[in-house]
Amino acid sequence: MRGALGGPRVLLRRLREVMAEQISAQDRLDKIVVLIAANMVAEVCSVYVLRVDQTLELYATEGLNRDAVHQTVLSVDEGLVGHVAREAESLALSDAQAHPEFSYRPETGEEIYNSFLGVPILRAGNTLGVLVVQNRARRTYTEEEIEALQTTAMVLAEMIASGELTALARPGAEPAVRRPLHLKGVGLADALGLGHAVLHEPRVKVTNVIADDVQRETHRLDAAIGKLRHAIDKMLEDDGLAKSGEHRDILEAYRMFAHDRGWMHKMREAVLSGLTAEGAVERVQSDTRARMMRASDPYLRERLHDLDDLANRLLRELLGHAPGPDRDSLPENAILVARNMSPAALLDYDRTRIRGLVLEEGGTTSHVTIVARALGIAAVGQVDNITGLADSGDPMIVDGQAGEVHLRPPGDVEEAYAEKVRFRARRQAQYAALRTRPSVTKDGVHIALHLNAGLVVDLPHIAETGAAGIGLFRTELQFMIASAFPRISEQLKLYRAVLDAAGERPVTFRTLDIGGDKVLPYMRTVEEENPALGWRAIRLGLDRPGLLRSQVRALLRAGAGRDLRLMFPMVAAVEEFDSARAIVERELTHLRKHGHGLPERVFVGAMVEVPSLLFQLDEILTRADFLSVGSNDLVQFLFAADRSNVRVADRFDPLSPPALRAFRMVAEAGARAGKPITLCGELASRPLEAIALAALGYRSLSLSPAAVGPVKAALLELDVGAARKVLLPLLEDRTGIAHIRDALRTFAETTGVPL
Ligand code: PEP
Ligand code: MG
Repeated sequence: MRGALGGPRVLLRRLREVMAEQISAQDRLDKIVVLIAANMVAEVCSVYVLRVDQTLELYATEGLNRDAVHQTVLSVDEGLVGHVAREAESLALSDAQAHPEFSYRPETGEEIYNSFLGVPILRAGNTLGVLVVQNRARRTYTEEEIEALQTTAMVLAEMIASGELTALARPGAEPAVRRPLHLKGVGLADALGLGHAVLHEPRVKVTNVIADDVQRETHRLDAAIGKLRHAIDKMLEDDGLAKSGEHRDILEAYRMFAHDRGWMHKMREAVLSGLTAEGAVERVQSDTRARMMRASDPYLRERLHDLDDLANRLLRELLGHAPGPDRDSLPENAILVARNMSPAALLDYDRTRIRGLVLEEGGTTSHVTIVARALGIAAVGQVDNITGLADSGDPMIVDGQAGEVHLRPPGDVEEAYAEKVRFRARRQAQYAALRTRPSVTKDGVHIALHLNAGLVVDLPHIAETGAAGIGLFRTELQFMIASAFPRISEQLKLYRAVLDAAGERPVTFRTLDIGGDKVLPYMRTVEEENPALGWRAIRLGLDRPGLLRSQVRALLRAGAGRDLRLMFPMVAAVEEFDSARAIVERELTHLRKHGHGLPERVFVGAMVEVPSLLFQLDEILTRADFLSVGSNDLVQFLFAADRSNVRVADRFDPLSPPALRAFRMVAEAGARAGKPITLCGELASRPLEAIALAALGYRSLSLSPAAVGPVKAALLELDVGAARKVLLPLLEDRTGIAHIRDALRTFAETTGVPL
């Protein structure tokens, strides 16, 4: 490095000595700035630390007025130091005063320095402070010098993160690193969870960042990269995809990045500047994360995420840490934190200890969400960078209703939530008291409330909620959480367990609904431009009849001696229903011929999820024994708004004329044909929406277990006739501005219907 005394490696070695000395934190910082200034031949070296109040405090300086230490406090919107903190990017200027954001504090005496180099002090992509060197002369800092200063900043990051500096701070002005955070996301599962963070894929902790032997570190890095490439190639080649539960495209992207020259180059450069191999990976990863958090282009973000994952794998190659938390020693009240998680991974945890789930991704209808709801744990998704912000053991509050997360909450917030939890528990007790009350409205209309289920963990909910039965059993969940196709015997076992748990109450099994957003990790899927509109559900079932046939056989055998209800997903044309029904008939004949016990009666239904079926209602109703509206998909297709794309999923209100008219068409057609109609999408799980459905004529709803109490409480106070009088005229409204949601809410509030 030009102009530096001994270069970055010498500096790092000296820094290590200083770090090991038994001195106060302030003395250590003071020594560090002197060393850096000398090594970089700079007149000034200063450390600014980001505080809980989001200001930057001067913690140490060589060259500026020392009296300014702990006195000078800058806003992050102020000056060049603020710029570096905000953007989390280095800034090198030969004529700092010419920069539009230049400002100076007279108490520091910095106006005589012309050149400026500031680098962010980063950890997991979060800014902890800013490290600055300045020179009187106008000089251009070289790439090597910038690199060297960034490397040095890592040592400071560790020092700040260790909490060592907190003792130097005034109360209320501590370093921001462990500050309380109130984060917004999207509520996935409506519950409250208080507990302590458990990182599903813990960041590998790098404690030793300064290398003894650069050559050795270069070899270690190269060897680890070699192993990583090999591991990815192997996963792509053999059938490891099934076991790893990962998607081929992700692995393809990993493979590309694992050979990316830019990435390799950055890490090698970092090693050459004196870091250990793991220190180098972490430095580059931290930069990546910082960019990721600021990237608005979703494609770029996704790629940066891939790079981040890959860096984590590389760290594991280097340090050999176990890939996940120790499941046997989970805290009593764990809040799981992950970028994303498969349903199987969630079910692998001891659910009696899980209180919450916080994801960086995760949509309201994604499968991990469905499982989180089934388990009754609070879940919030779309929380930016939570895996970089939370540390294992951090106190956390997950508010699944508001879609909010409190990380390291202050005492008053914690108390307020503890009170909320007590309040909820009381309300749950009230709902539990309704368990045995028939679900009949004030004007005597019976509305059967069934459960949506799909897992063994759902079964106790039947008794707990007093539901009328299972209105939708999503059979694909068993397939989705397995690592290989479940055998017929396994399917049979599950279906029997479900029927046994339900006893006399009816259960409606839906045949496999895979494809689209429901991916089986072990099944090779065909690349499709529009998977939601592609080869999925009954389409796949009819084209691969072996799969459907074996499932139908398992269902018929499980139903021996009782009534069996099954229905087909995503029916778009009556011919599909005819073909599927023919499979059922054929299987019945087969079982009869081989002397198997048969169900007493078999009811075969269709789901109304594709708008084309709305225009064949009379035809389908002459063939099907019942219909069930899948409002999640029906609404997605009606509005052409992808249910799993958070940008559009909630853009259109189902409590608006187009959707409500569609729901009404089905209810009316069912009444004309005298066939039962149910609605089993998430819509029925919300009291206000359930009221609307009752007003449209629905007499059977299928909902998530946690929703039975609130929806029943609302229905018990509802006058359906009065609700119809409010709703039906609004459906005829031709102005296009009917505010149905508002009108129904006002109706509920004025008539004492609890929402
Ligand atoms: C629906 O589409 O509304 C439905 C109930 O099915 P799923 O959510 O499983 O697609
Ligand atoms: Mg559906």
